[in-house]
Amino acid sequence: MYGLSERRGLGAAVAGAVRQSGAIGALGIVVALFGLLTSRQDYLLEGATAMTFAIAATGLGLALGLSGEYLLGQIAVFAIGAYTTADLTANRHWSFWPACVLGVVAASLAGLVISVVGLRISRFYFALVGFFLVYLIPDLTQVADSQTGGGAGLAVPDLPSFFGHELRNRGMFFLALVALLLSLVLVQNVRLSPLGIQMRWMRVAPLSLATFGVRVWRVRLATYVLSSALAGLGGAIYSHLSGYLLPDDFDLNTTVLLFAAVVVGGATSLLGPTVGIVLLYVVPRLVINVSGYSDIIYGAVVLISVVVFRDGVDRFVREGAAKAWWWIVHRVRRVPLRRAASTVDERQSGVSATASAVVPNVDELADLLMGLRDDSVTRRGSLVIRGARKAFGGVVALVMDPDDVVAIEPGRVHVLLGPNGSGKTTLLNALCGVFELDSGSVSVGGDVVNGVSATRLARLGVSRSFQSPQFPVEMSPVELLSGSLVTMRRLSYLHWMSSDLAATRARRDATDFAARIAAMAGLETAMNRPCSGLTSGQRRILDVLLALVTRSSIVLLDEPAAGLSNLERRQLGDLIRALAARGMGLLAIEHDLDFALRIADEVTVLANGRRLAHGRPDEVRADPLVRTALVGGAGV
Ligand code: ADP
Ligand code: MG
Repeated sequence: MYGLSERRGLGAAVAGAVRQSGAIGALGIVVALFGLLTSRQDYLLEGATAMTFAIAATGLGLALGLSGEYLLGQIAVFAIGAYTTADLTANRHWSFWPACVLGVVAASLAGLVISVVGLRISRFYFALVGFFLVYLIPDLTQVADSQTGGGAGLAVPDLPSFFGHELRNRGMFFLALVALLLSLVLVQNVRLSPLGIQMRWMRVAPLSLATFGVRVWRVRLATYVLSSALAGLGGAIYSHLSGYLLPDDFDLNTTVLLFAAVVVGGATSLLGPTVGIVLLYVVPRLVINVSGYSDIIYGAVVLISVVVFRDGVDRFVREGAAKAWWWIVHRVRRVPLRRAASTVDERQSGVSATASAVVPNVDELADLLMGLRDDSVTRRGSLVIRGARKAFGGVVALVMDPDDVVAIEPGRVHVLLGPNGSGKTTLLNALCGVFELDSGSVSVGGDVVNGVSATRLARLGVSRSFQSPQFPVEMSPVELLSGSLVTMRRLSYLHWMSSDLAATRARRDATDFAARIAAMAGLETAMNRPCSGLTSGQRRILDVLLALVTRSSIVLLDEPAAGLSNLERRQLGDLIRALAARGMGLLAIEHDLDFALRIADEVTVLANGRRLAHGRPDEVRADPLVRTALVGGAGV
């Protein structure tokens, strides 16, 4: 799809998918062996209960760790799944399986309703609402006491049956295990899908997500519904474990258990919440007999775990294993440390040392980037802002004359110059729909787009980079770039949720292409490491690439050269020129007059929100006002 000639085979793609599922498989085998070998009924019952909590915690982990949404009312949704299922089997004599499906549907609908609230209030208040929801559970069961049995509880006498066999404790243990494994596989697939990457963006930079053309509310809604569906599944199975359902089952303790399990186990990792449930529920109940002091020991375990495993137990263990492997390679095989380091580097970055020495080929990179766009791009026309005025409270950021125009035309580079605080970023924000002008107009190809959202403008072909870029730092540059690339594939969600061959292949192609672009742009040593380790220059390059790895015909770059070395600045300038030569329209904000004049076809100079000068680079260079403003002003 991306014009790649060489492609790693499907075999490698399948092998990758199998490797990623290895941890889930290992968990399944260990737990299944335990379920087969133990003869204690209480172990089976507690184990099954723990797994229903683990399913809900996995959903909460998705919301908290990926999307950054504090769905603290998860246990209320769990209760909705449990009561719906129990009501249908105990009061209406449904069979367990359709009742279970309806329990999950009811919980998902609850997630939908919660999302309406979540879209309207801040994260902090949303978390509070979650807690209040849990307080309401006893009252709500009282209101619906004919369905729930009210405070006295609801007897759930019938055991689910599977092909004529009643599922007793061991059967329910395995039902819970299968449900947990399926949930983990589903969440794993979501994490790898475009939706999963969008969730991560939503957590750190919802505005970036909008400027990629993604509707942020949809990502939030998907988070709530998915997470609630998993809580509902856990609840549905839970309702048939003990034969009795009480409102006290879903109290603040259980809320804290789920939340603490996610935090202690590791919110950002797939298995973290399950590990957390093992530590905070299974271990205290089954391994240590703590009847008298359970709360104190429980509290101590949570406290110590949070302090010792700051990023979650799961990550702690994996990083520990990586270090141990490093030590083995170094000591046992007697590989000198330095060579071991370079082998790991090469393997991680996927390029050899010779490849990284190659000077980036700007024309080839520009060709690859333009190859993502179709021919209609150059025919979309100019992005024009006219008579822009914008004030923030008392601060006037932009006061252009009504007939002052800044136009970004296909095939041309427009540079915006001006001292700090002169309104450059404000102008760029108005151009890409981040906020609306107080007066003046913005148009694309002659159509006025005043008040049109950033998402919509991105879909009309306008993308941008940021003055202070922010990324989901746990992801690597290649993962972020390939996330944008796979989104362009428009593969249906059935493919992503099942992570089938089409999805695996799309992901593999995108990864190859992303690695190629990143290497060409000079990120080869950092491209497969988490973004948290990027230098400020590398962050800048990545952010510019993210604005370019789109279908946009107009690209707005906010200080793209800030923090770059001289060589990198030159290459960036060449890339900007090469893209313009291929029909892209670019706006670049810049401080450095010489650099600006070298890449520009047209220059606008701003000072105090006004247009100080405008014209060809040589005209602007000759303007004494400009020299005074730029050299005398701040930030040059
Ligand atoms: P530049 O990018 O040229 O450095 P900006 O456009 O960021 O300048 O800012 C212009 C003026 O508008 C500054 O005085 C800044 O403090 C103010 N400003 C910009 N954005 C906001 C905002 N969101 N809220 C309040 N004031 C803002
Ligand atoms: Mg700025």
